[in-house]
Amino acid sequence: MHEFKYKGSYLYCEDIRVRDLANRFGTPLYIYSYHTLIGHFVKLKIAFLEVEPLICYSVKANSNLAVLRALVDKGAGLDIVSGGELFRAIKAGCPADKIVYASVGKTDREIEEAVRRRILFFNVESLPELENINRIAARLNKIANVAIRINPDVEPKTHKFITTGKITNKFGIDFKGAYKIFLFRNKFTNLNICGLHIHIGSQITESTPYVAAITKMVNFIAKLKRRGIDLEYLNIGGGLGIIYDKEIPQTAQKFASKVLPLLKKTGLKIILEPGRFIVGNAGILVTKVLYIKSTPKKKFVIVDAGMNDLLRPALYGAYHNILPLHAPRSTLHAKEKVDIVGPICESADFFAKDRRLSCVKEGDYLAIMGAGAYGFSMSSNYNSRRRAEEALVIKDKVFVVRKRETHADLTCNEIIPPFLLGL
Ligand code: PLP
Repeated sequence: MHEFKYKGSYLYCEDIRVRDLANRFGTPLYIYSYHTLIGHFVKLKIAFLEVEPLICYSVKANSNLAVLRALVDKGAGLDIVSGGELFRAIKAGCPADKIVYASVGKTDREIEEAVRRRILFFNVESLPELENINRIAARLNKIANVAIRINPDVEPKTHKFITTGKITNKFGIDFKGAYKIFLFRNKFTNLNICGLHIHIGSQITESTPYVAAITKMVNFIAKLKRRGIDLEYLNIGGGLGIIYDKEIPQTAQKFASKVLPLLKKTGLKIILEPGRFIVGNAGILVTKVLYIKSTPKKKFVIVDAGMNDLLRPALYGAYHNILPLHAPRSTLHAKEKVDIVGPICESADFFAKDRRLSCVKEGDYLAIMGAGAYGFSMSSNYNSRRRAEEALVIKDKVFVVRKRETHADLTCNEIIPPFLLGL
Protein backbone atom coordinates (compact mmCIF):
# COMPACT_ATOMS: atom_id res chain seq x y z
CA MET A 1 0.00 0.00 0.00
CA HIS A 2 1.21 3.48 -0.74
CA GLU A 3 0.07 7.07 -1.08
CA PHE A 4 0.75 7.52 -4.80
CA LYS A 5 -2.69 7.43 -6.41
CA TYR A 6 -4.57 8.88 -9.34
CA LYS A 7 -7.18 11.47 -8.50
CA GLY A 8 -9.03 12.06 -11.74
CA SER A 9 -6.38 11.84 -14.44
CA TYR A 10 -3.46 13.11 -12.33
CA LEU A 11 -1.07 11.13 -10.16
CA TYR A 12 -0.88 12.46 -6.61
CA CYS A 13 1.57 11.95 -3.78
CA GLU A 14 -0.58 12.28 -0.67
CA ASP A 15 -2.44 15.57 -1.36
CA ILE A 16 -0.10 17.04 -3.96
CA ARG A 17 -0.25 16.63 -7.71
CA VAL A 18 3.06 15.09 -8.74
CA ARG A 19 3.15 17.09 -11.98
CA ASP A 20 3.18 20.32 -9.95
CA LEU A 21 6.26 19.04 -8.12
CA ALA A 22 7.98 18.11 -11.39
CA ASN A 23 7.28 21.57 -12.80
CA ARG A 24 8.47 23.24 -9.61
CA PHE A 25 11.63 21.26 -8.86
CA GLY A 26 12.60 19.90 -12.26
CA THR A 27 13.49 16.32 -13.14
CA PRO A 28 14.87 13.75 -12.46
CA LEU A 29 13.20 14.10 -9.08
CA TYR A 30 12.79 11.61 -6.25
CA ILE A 31 9.57 12.08 -4.29
CA TYR A 32 8.90 10.35 -0.98
CA SER A 33 5.59 10.03 0.85
CA TYR A 34 6.00 10.56 4.58
CA HIS A 35 2.83 8.68 5.48
CA THR A 36 3.76 5.65 3.35
CA LEU A 37 7.17 5.52 5.00
CA ILE A 38 5.85 5.72 8.53
CA GLY A 39 2.87 3.51 7.68
CA HIS A 40 5.14 0.61 6.75
CA PHE A 41 7.24 1.04 9.89
CA VAL A 42 4.13 1.02 12.07
CA LYS A 43 2.70 -2.03 10.27
CA LEU A 44 5.80 -4.04 11.08
CA LYS A 45 5.87 -2.79 14.64
CA ILE A 46 2.26 -3.83 15.19
CA ALA A 47 2.74 -7.22 13.53
CA PHE A 48 5.61 -8.05 15.91
CA LEU A 49 4.15 -6.31 18.97
CA GLU A 50 4.10 -9.55 20.99
CA VAL A 51 7.92 -9.59 21.14
CA GLU A 52 8.38 -5.79 21.18
CA PRO A 53 11.29 -5.88 18.75
CA LEU A 54 13.80 -3.15 18.10
CA ILE A 55 13.30 -2.29 14.43
CA CYS A 56 16.61 -1.08 13.04
CA TYR A 57 15.82 0.44 9.64
CA SER A 58 18.52 -0.48 7.14
CA VAL A 59 20.19 2.80 6.20
CA LYS A 60 21.58 1.50 2.89
CA ALA A 61 18.09 1.27 1.39
CA ASN A 62 17.66 5.04 1.52
CA SER A 63 20.05 7.05 3.62
CA ASN A 64 18.60 10.55 3.25
CA LEU A 65 18.81 12.29 6.63
CA ALA A 66 15.13 13.27 6.51
CA VAL A 67 14.09 9.63 5.96
CA LEU A 68 16.33 8.52 8.84
CA ARG A 69 15.10 11.29 11.11
CA ALA A 70 11.43 10.51 10.35
CA LEU A 71 11.92 6.88 11.37
CA VAL A 72 14.17 7.56 14.37
CA ASP A 73 11.53 9.99 15.56
CA LYS A 74 9.05 7.09 15.62
CA GLY A 75 11.40 4.95 17.70
CA ALA A 76 13.37 3.12 15.00
CA GLY A 77 16.97 2.12 15.49
CA LEU A 78 19.32 1.94 12.50
CA ASP A 79 21.26 -0.85 10.79
CA ILE A 80 24.51 0.50 9.33
CA VAL A 81 27.31 -0.90 7.17
CA SER A 82 30.01 1.80 7.13
CA GLY A 83 31.56 4.71 8.95
CA GLY A 84 29.64 6.99 6.61
CA GLU A 85 26.35 5.43 7.66
CA LEU A 86 27.37 5.76 11.31
CA PHE A 87 27.98 9.46 10.68
CA ARG A 88 24.51 9.76 9.11
CA ALA A 89 22.87 7.79 11.92
CA ILE A 90 24.33 10.09 14.58
CA LYS A 91 23.46 13.15 12.51
CA ALA A 92 19.87 11.95 12.24
CA GLY A 93 19.73 11.80 16.05
CA CYS A 94 19.69 8.01 16.44
CA PRO A 95 20.74 6.97 19.96
CA ALA A 96 23.95 4.94 19.72
CA ASP A 97 22.38 2.12 21.71
CA LYS A 98 19.92 1.58 18.84
CA ILE A 99 22.59 1.17 16.16
CA VAL A 100 23.75 -2.23 14.85
CA TYR A 101 26.68 -2.51 12.47
CA ALA A 102 27.14 -5.27 9.83
CA SER A 103 29.63 -5.51 6.88
CA VAL A 104 32.31 -8.03 5.98
CA GLY A 105 34.94 -5.32 5.62
CA LYS A 106 34.91 -2.95 8.58
CA THR A 107 38.13 -0.93 8.74
CA ASP A 108 40.07 -0.19 11.95
CA ARG A 109 38.98 3.42 11.79
CA GLU A 110 35.32 2.49 11.38
CA ILE A 111 35.50 -0.03 14.22
CA GLU A 112 37.22 2.46 16.52
CA GLU A 113 34.58 5.12 15.91
CA ALA A 114 31.73 2.67 16.56
CA VAL A 115 33.39 1.37 19.75
CA ARG A 116 33.89 4.92 21.01
CA ARG A 117 30.25 5.74 20.24
CA ARG A 118 29.13 2.63 22.17
CA ILE A 119 26.77 1.30 19.50
CA LEU A 120 24.37 -1.49 20.52
CA PHE A 121 26.53 -4.12 18.80
CA PHE A 122 28.59 -5.15 15.79
CA ASN A 123 27.27 -7.95 13.59
CA VAL A 124 30.56 -9.77 13.17
CA GLU A 125 31.13 -11.60 9.90
CA SER A 126 34.44 -13.49 10.41
CA LEU A 127 36.93 -14.68 13.03
CA PRO A 128 39.65 -12.21 11.94
CA GLU A 129 37.14 -9.37 12.28
CA LEU A 130 36.19 -10.58 15.77
CA GLU A 131 39.87 -10.62 16.76
CA ASN A 132 40.34 -7.16 15.34
CA ILE A 133 37.39 -5.65 17.22
CA ASN A 134 38.73 -7.27 20.40
CA ARG A 135 42.18 -5.76 19.77
CA ILE A 136 40.77 -2.30 19.07
CA ALA A 137 38.44 -2.39 22.08
CA ALA A 138 41.39 -3.45 24.28
CA ARG A 139 43.48 -0.54 22.99
CA LEU A 140 40.62 1.83 23.81
CA ASN A 141 40.14 0.17 27.17
CA LYS A 142 36.51 -0.63 26.35
CA ILE A 143 34.23 -3.65 26.14
CA ALA A 144 32.51 -3.90 22.74
CA ASN A 145 29.20 -5.71 22.25
CA VAL A 146 29.10 -8.11 19.34
CA ALA A 147 26.62 -10.48 17.71
CA ILE A 148 27.89 -13.29 15.53
CA ARG A 149 26.41 -13.19 12.03
CA ILE A 150 25.55 -16.73 11.11
CA ASN A 151 25.43 -17.93 7.53
CA PRO A 152 22.55 -20.41 7.88
CA ASP A 153 22.93 -21.78 4.35
CA VAL A 154 19.34 -21.39 3.18
CA GLU A 155 17.95 -20.61 -0.27
CA PRO A 156 15.93 -17.38 -0.08
CA LYS A 157 14.47 -17.74 -3.60
CA THR A 158 15.42 -14.29 -4.77
CA HIS A 159 17.85 -12.78 -7.32
CA LYS A 160 21.34 -14.27 -6.92
CA PHE A 161 22.90 -10.80 -6.45
CA ILE A 162 20.77 -10.22 -3.35
CA THR A 163 21.09 -13.69 -1.87
CA THR A 164 23.26 -13.49 1.25
CA GLY A 165 22.57 -16.53 3.42
CA LYS A 166 23.97 -19.36 1.31
CA ILE A 167 27.22 -20.94 2.36
CA THR A 168 28.86 -19.83 -0.91
CA ASN A 169 28.12 -16.16 -0.08
CA LYS A 170 30.75 -14.00 1.60
CA PHE A 171 28.52 -13.14 4.56
CA GLY A 172 28.51 -14.51 8.09
CA ILE A 173 30.08 -17.52 9.79
CA ASP A 174 28.95 -21.14 9.49
CA PHE A 175 27.43 -22.84 12.55
CA LYS A 176 30.52 -24.94 13.30
CA GLY A 177 32.81 -21.93 13.16
CA ALA A 178 30.45 -19.91 15.32
CA TYR A 179 30.21 -22.70 17.89
CA LYS A 180 34.00 -22.77 18.21
CA ILE A 181 34.01 -19.01 18.78
CA PHE A 182 31.54 -19.41 21.62
CA LEU A 183 33.59 -22.20 23.19
CA PHE A 184 36.64 -19.95 23.20
CA ARG A 185 34.76 -16.75 24.02
CA ASN A 186 36.82 -16.05 27.15
CA LYS A 187 39.80 -15.46 24.91
CA PHE A 188 38.11 -12.28 23.68
CA THR A 189 38.73 -10.26 26.81
CA ASN A 190 37.27 -7.01 25.48
CA LEU A 191 34.16 -8.40 23.83
CA ASN A 192 30.70 -9.15 25.13
CA ILE A 193 29.35 -11.72 22.67
CA CYS A 194 25.71 -11.05 23.32
CA GLY A 195 23.77 -12.10 20.25
CA LEU A 196 23.30 -13.82 16.94
CA HIS A 197 22.46 -12.30 13.58
CA ILE A 198 21.21 -13.51 10.22
CA HIS A 199 20.32 -11.71 7.02
CA ILE A 200 19.50 -14.18 4.28
CA GLY A 201 18.81 -11.88 1.33
CA SER A 202 16.57 -9.18 -0.04
CA GLN A 203 13.19 -8.97 -1.83
CA ILE A 204 12.13 -12.28 -0.24
CA THR A 205 8.44 -12.84 -0.82
CA GLU A 206 7.87 -16.10 1.07
CA SER A 207 8.18 -16.97 4.73
CA THR A 208 9.61 -20.47 4.19
CA PRO A 209 13.27 -19.36 3.87
CA TYR A 210 12.94 -17.35 7.09
CA VAL A 211 11.28 -20.24 8.89
CA ALA A 212 14.09 -22.54 7.72
CA ALA A 213 16.82 -20.11 8.84
CA ILE A 214 15.21 -19.18 12.15
CA THR A 215 14.54 -22.85 12.98
CA LYS A 216 18.28 -23.49 12.57
CA MET A 217 18.96 -20.52 14.83
CA VAL A 218 16.54 -21.76 17.52
CA ASN A 219 18.35 -25.10 17.54
CA PHE A 220 21.73 -23.39 17.72
CA ILE A 221 20.61 -21.16 20.58
CA ALA A 222 19.41 -24.27 22.45
CA LYS A 223 22.76 -25.97 21.81
CA LEU A 224 24.61 -22.96 23.23
CA LYS A 225 22.30 -22.87 26.22
CA ARG A 226 23.10 -26.50 26.99
CA ARG A 227 26.76 -25.44 27.19
CA GLY A 228 25.78 -22.68 29.63
CA ILE A 229 26.10 -19.93 27.02
CA ASP A 230 23.32 -17.36 27.35
CA LEU A 231 22.60 -14.66 24.81
CA GLU A 232 20.61 -11.46 24.88
CA TYR A 233 19.71 -10.72 21.22
CA LEU A 234 18.54 -12.45 18.09
CA ASN A 235 18.72 -10.23 15.01
CA ILE A 236 16.78 -11.72 12.09
CA GLY A 237 17.93 -9.14 9.53
CA GLY A 238 15.82 -7.60 6.79
CA GLY A 239 14.84 -8.84 3.37
CA LEU A 240 11.04 -8.60 3.27
CA GLY A 241 9.84 -8.22 -0.30
CA ILE A 242 7.48 -5.66 -1.74
CA ILE A 243 5.28 -5.45 -4.84
CA TYR A 244 7.16 -4.22 -7.91
CA ASP A 245 5.28 -6.22 -10.52
CA LYS A 246 3.08 -9.26 -9.97
CA GLU A 247 4.71 -10.50 -6.77
CA ILE A 248 2.38 -11.46 -3.96
CA PRO A 249 4.60 -10.81 -0.97
CA GLN A 250 3.53 -11.82 2.48
CA THR A 251 2.04 -9.05 4.58
CA ALA A 252 3.86 -8.05 7.76
CA GLN A 253 1.08 -9.77 9.73
CA LYS A 254 1.39 -13.02 7.79
CA PHE A 255 5.17 -13.01 8.06
CA ALA A 256 4.96 -12.37 11.79
CA SER A 257 2.42 -15.18 12.28
CA LYS A 258 4.90 -17.65 10.73
CA VAL A 259 8.03 -16.62 12.60
CA LEU A 260 6.71 -15.36 15.95
CA PRO A 261 6.20 -18.86 17.43
CA LEU A 262 9.87 -19.59 16.71
CA LEU A 263 11.12 -16.25 17.97
CA LYS A 264 9.19 -16.56 21.23
CA LYS A 265 10.87 -19.90 21.90
CA THR A 266 14.25 -18.16 22.13
CA GLY A 267 13.24 -15.76 24.91
CA LEU A 268 15.73 -13.29 23.38
CA LYS A 269 15.27 -9.64 22.51
CA ILE A 270 14.38 -9.58 18.81
CA ILE A 271 15.86 -7.19 16.27
CA LEU A 272 14.66 -6.64 12.69
CA GLU A 273 16.57 -4.80 9.96
CA PRO A 274 14.05 -3.98 7.22
CA GLY A 275 15.01 -1.56 4.48
CA ARG A 276 13.05 -2.14 1.28
CA PHE A 277 9.81 -3.05 3.12
CA ILE A 278 9.77 0.36 4.80
CA VAL A 279 10.94 2.70 2.06
CA GLY A 280 10.59 0.85 -1.27
CA ASN A 281 7.04 1.86 -2.13
CA ALA A 282 7.37 5.18 -0.32
CA GLY A 283 9.33 6.71 -3.19
CA ILE A 284 9.05 7.36 -6.91
CA LEU A 285 11.47 8.74 -9.48
CA VAL A 286 9.90 11.33 -11.77
CA THR A 287 11.41 11.80 -15.19
CA LYS A 288 10.62 13.78 -18.32
CA VAL A 289 10.31 12.39 -21.84
CA LEU A 290 13.01 14.05 -23.96
CA TYR A 291 12.55 12.29 -27.30
CA ILE A 292 10.56 9.55 -28.94
CA LYS A 293 12.77 7.64 -31.34
CA SER A 294 11.56 5.02 -33.79
CA THR A 295 13.96 2.59 -35.40
CA PRO A 296 13.13 -0.23 -37.84
CA LYS A 297 12.80 -2.65 -34.90
CA LYS A 298 11.95 -0.57 -31.85
CA LYS A 299 10.35 2.48 -30.41
CA PHE A 300 12.40 4.19 -27.70
CA VAL A 301 11.07 6.63 -25.14
CA ILE A 302 14.18 8.55 -24.11
CA VAL A 303 13.87 10.15 -20.68
CA ASP A 304 16.03 12.50 -18.64
CA ALA A 305 16.70 10.00 -15.80
CA GLY A 306 19.43 7.44 -16.28
CA MET A 307 20.95 4.35 -14.74
CA ASN A 308 23.04 6.71 -12.62
CA ASP A 309 19.78 7.80 -10.93
CA LEU A 310 18.21 4.35 -10.59
CA LEU A 311 20.54 1.41 -11.13
CA ARG A 312 18.24 -1.49 -10.29
CA PRO A 313 17.03 -2.33 -13.82
CA ALA A 314 20.61 -2.26 -15.17
CA LEU A 315 22.04 -4.14 -12.20
CA TYR A 316 19.43 -6.85 -11.64
CA GLY A 317 17.07 -6.49 -14.60
CA ALA A 318 14.65 -5.25 -11.92
CA TYR A 319 11.07 -4.43 -12.88
CA HIS A 320 9.55 -1.05 -12.00
CA ASN A 321 6.03 -0.06 -12.89
CA ILE A 322 6.05 3.15 -14.95
CA LEU A 323 3.07 5.48 -14.97
CA PRO A 324 2.28 8.78 -16.67
CA LEU A 325 1.78 11.72 -14.30
CA HIS A 326 -1.18 12.75 -16.41
CA ALA A 327 -3.34 9.99 -17.83
CA PRO A 328 -6.44 11.41 -19.52
CA ARG A 329 -8.99 8.74 -20.46
CA SER A 330 -8.29 9.25 -24.15
CA THR A 331 -4.70 7.97 -23.78
CA LEU A 332 -5.40 4.94 -21.61
CA HIS A 333 -6.37 2.48 -24.32
CA ALA A 334 -3.84 3.55 -26.94
CA LYS A 335 -0.96 1.48 -25.60
CA GLU A 336 2.18 0.71 -27.51
CA LYS A 337 5.26 -1.39 -26.88
CA VAL A 338 8.31 0.73 -26.10
CA ASP A 339 11.71 0.63 -24.45
CA ILE A 340 12.08 3.37 -21.86
CA VAL A 341 15.72 4.37 -21.79
CA GLY A 342 17.99 7.02 -20.31
CA PRO A 343 20.60 9.28 -21.90
CA ILE A 344 23.68 7.37 -20.67
CA CYS A 345 26.17 5.77 -23.04
CA GLU A 346 25.46 2.18 -22.00
CA SER A 347 22.94 -0.24 -23.43
CA ALA A 348 22.17 -1.25 -19.83
CA ASP A 349 20.73 2.24 -19.35
CA PHE A 350 17.06 1.28 -19.46
CA PHE A 351 14.05 1.35 -17.16
CA ALA A 352 11.77 -0.93 -19.16
CA LYS A 353 12.00 -3.12 -22.24
CA ASP A 354 9.10 -3.94 -24.55
CA ARG A 355 6.74 -2.35 -22.07
CA ARG A 356 3.18 -1.54 -23.07
CA LEU A 357 2.84 2.12 -22.19
CA SER A 358 -0.02 4.47 -22.91
CA CYS A 359 0.99 6.89 -25.67
CA VAL A 360 3.37 9.56 -24.43
CA LYS A 361 4.89 12.50 -26.21
CA GLU A 362 7.95 14.63 -25.75
CA GLY A 363 7.66 16.82 -22.65
CA ASP A 364 5.39 14.40 -20.78
CA TYR A 365 6.38 13.19 -17.34
CA LEU A 366 6.59 9.59 -16.14
CA ALA A 367 6.77 8.17 -12.62
CA ILE A 368 9.03 5.19 -12.03
CA MET A 369 7.24 3.52 -9.15
CA GLY A 370 8.72 1.67 -6.17
CA ALA A 371 11.97 3.62 -6.38
CA GLY A 372 12.29 4.52 -2.69
CA ALA A 373 14.70 1.70 -1.80
CA TYR A 374 18.11 1.25 -3.42
CA GLY A 375 17.23 4.16 -5.71
CA PHE A 376 18.94 7.37 -4.73
CA SER A 377 21.25 5.53 -2.34
CA MET A 378 22.77 3.62 -5.28
CA SER A 379 22.92 6.66 -7.56
CA SER A 380 26.17 8.03 -8.93
CA ASN A 381 27.66 10.81 -11.02
CA TYR A 382 28.38 8.53 -13.98
CA ASN A 383 28.57 10.49 -17.24
CA SER A 384 29.15 13.54 -15.00
CA ARG A 385 25.46 13.75 -14.30
CA ARG A 386 24.35 15.71 -11.28
CA ARG A 387 22.52 13.57 -8.76
CA ALA A 388 18.77 14.18 -8.54
CA GLU A 389 16.81 16.35 -6.14
CA GLU A 390 14.83 14.59 -3.41
CA ALA A 391 11.57 15.88 -1.94
CA LEU A 392 9.44 14.65 0.95
CA VAL A 393 5.67 15.12 0.85
CA ILE A 394 3.48 15.18 3.91
CA LYS A 395 -0.18 15.73 3.06
CA ASP A 396 -0.26 19.05 1.15
CA LYS A 397 3.24 20.14 2.12
CA VAL A 398 6.50 19.41 0.38
CA PHE A 399 10.07 19.75 1.63
CA VAL A 400 13.23 19.53 -0.43
CA VAL A 401 15.34 17.01 1.48
CA ARG A 402 18.29 17.04 -0.89
CA LYS A 403 19.08 19.74 -3.37
CA ARG A 404 20.00 18.85 -6.92
CA GLU A 405 23.77 18.82 -7.30
CA THR A 406 25.42 21.65 -9.21
CA HIS A 407 28.10 21.36 -11.86
CA ALA A 408 30.52 22.81 -9.30
CA ASP A 409 29.68 19.89 -6.96
CA LEU A 410 30.89 17.50 -9.64
CA THR A 411 34.47 18.74 -9.54
CA CYS A 412 34.74 20.21 -6.05
CA ASN A 413 37.10 17.47 -4.80
CA GLU A 414 39.25 17.26 -7.90
CA ILE A 415 42.66 18.87 -8.21
CA ILE A 416 44.69 19.53 -11.36
CA PRO A 417 48.37 19.17 -10.34
CA PRO A 418 50.35 22.41 -10.81
CA PHE A 419 52.62 20.86 -13.49
CA LEU A 420 49.57 20.41 -15.76
CA LEU A 421 48.76 24.06 -15.34
CA GLY A 422 52.25 25.11 -16.41
CA LEU A 423 53.04 26.30 -12.88
N1 PLP B 1 20.50 -6.09 6.98
C1 PLP B 1 21.60 -6.39 6.29
C2 PLP B 1 22.77 -6.94 7.02
C3 PLP B 1 21.67 -6.17 4.91
O1 PLP B 1 22.78 -6.48 4.23
C4 PLP B 1 20.52 -5.65 4.25
C5 PLP B 1 20.52 -5.44 2.80
O2 PLP B 1 21.39 -5.77 2.05
C6 PLP B 1 19.38 -5.33 5.01
C7 PLP B 1 19.41 -5.58 6.37
C8 PLP B 1 18.16 -4.74 4.40
O3 PLP B 1 17.57 -5.56 3.46
P1 PLP B 1 16.17 -5.22 2.85
O4 PLP B 1 16.24 -3.85 2.28
O5 PLP B 1 15.94 -6.25 1.82
O6 PLP B 1 15.16 -5.29 3.97
